[in-house]
Amino acid sequence: MQENIIPHDFSIGHEERKALKKHNAFLLWFTGLSGSGKSTIANAVEKILVEKGIHTYTLDGDNVRKGLNSDLAFSPEDRKENIRRIAEVANLMMDAGLVVLGAFVSPYEKDRANIKQIVGVSQYVEIFVNTPIEVCENRDVKGLYTKARAGEISNFTGIDAPYEAPSHPDIEVDTTKVSVEEAVEMVIRHIENKLSEE
Ligand code: ADP
Repeated sequence: MQENIIPHDFSIGHEERKALKKHNAFLLWFTGLSGSGKSTIANAVEKILVEKGIHTYTLDGDNVRKGLNSDLAFSPEDRKENIRRIAEVANLMMDAGLVVLGAFVSPYEKDRANIKQIVGVSQYVEIFVNTPIEVCENRDVKGLYTKARAGEISNFTGIDAPYEAPSHPDIEVDTTKVSVEEAVEMVIRHIENKLSEE
């Protein structure tokens, strides 16, 4: 089927959209355990970016798993497909000229390597929100750890499913040592040049 898909030569491409937006497009990928602080930090980063006039979009479990990926569960195969679709959507949004923020547990190294491959190495910024599991479990923001411990949820990362820590994240944040504001500062400092470099 793929061989019969011949791209149309559109007059408006990434360069035109980028010129309109006046900044580069890339992906900020937040990975870490449930409750580690991914969404909190992503949300605070997005707020600062928007204040700077940057065009953004945040993809997270709530807006993706309820729609596009509502057919997927948490087996390793489904997690892989979940991440693949998110990366493809992020790629389209980047083509549209947006700085995309993705906040997903994304526990497998192989799946994160796949995102990098889909969006391009230089457009992928990995932020490892490395909060100890005991702290995440104590926070139990969504009550999911309690349910997982009670056996009401299976394949829960950190309890009965693995989390493979990134070996070379661009940024690593332990939220027991760093405040939300400090984490945001670390991310913004890291991407400041990336927003405007040629
Ligand atoms: P995740 O998106 O990783 O599942 P959330 O961002 O939903 O996690 O939840 C993290 C919780 O931890 C929030 O209630 C947040 O207020 C709290 N928290 C405490 N300190 C920090 C910090 N330094 N950075 C991020 N979150 C923090």
